[in-house]
Amino acid sequence: MAVGVLALQGDFREHAAVLHQLGAAPVEVRLPRQLAGVSHLIIPGGESTTIGRLLDRYGMLEPIRARAGRDLAIWGTCAGAILLARQVLDVKKGGQPTLAVMDITVRRNAYGSQLDSFETLLPIPLLGEPPLRGVFIRAPQIETVGKGVEVLARLEEGAIVAARQGRLLVTTFHPELAADDRVHRYFLEL
Ligand code: GLN
Repeated sequence: MAVGVLALQGDFREHAAVLHQLGAAPVEVRLPRQLAGVSHLIIPGGESTTIGRLLDRYGMLEPIRARAGRDLAIWGTCAGAILLARQVLDVKKGGQPTLAVMDITVRRNAYGSQLDSFETLLPIPLLGEPPLRGVFIRAPQIETVGKGVEVLARLEEGAIVAARQGRLLVTTFHPELAADDRVHRYFLEL
């Protein structure tokens, strides 16, 4: 089993650092051939339009789609969650290429601009105590989830911030910036 981090744009180094600490020897993935042998793939936060375009340009959309949730577990953080969602609201004019493999609807930049980024203590029942430091950076919001999707965490006011559909996981916040490896460990067990 190898863990890959999609390394086209965004904060893939921060994810890789957490994985190194866990002894997981992550592979940086940019091209289809680098997916060989990878059983778990993290799609980092960053700019979903840029990552989507690069996925398209490097011929990565189909190879990932074909394995998503099957022999490839995928965790999308923030921009990565946008890339996994079947439906994306508030996309740039002209649309943006996405993987569209998970039965959720997300709204981009749902909390406002970069200045409206925030941190909050986030209880995640399946991780137990203490709550996680939730770092939200121009985050999307998960607005609806399909029948096969389990909601894993919400903000106090109800917004869904983490969900799972089988071997697909999304978080709209950034555990890789929170000095807390519990979500990484949870993902590696999917
Ligand atoms: N706002 C970004 C987007 O829409 C996501 C931000 C992030 O990944 N931190 O792609």
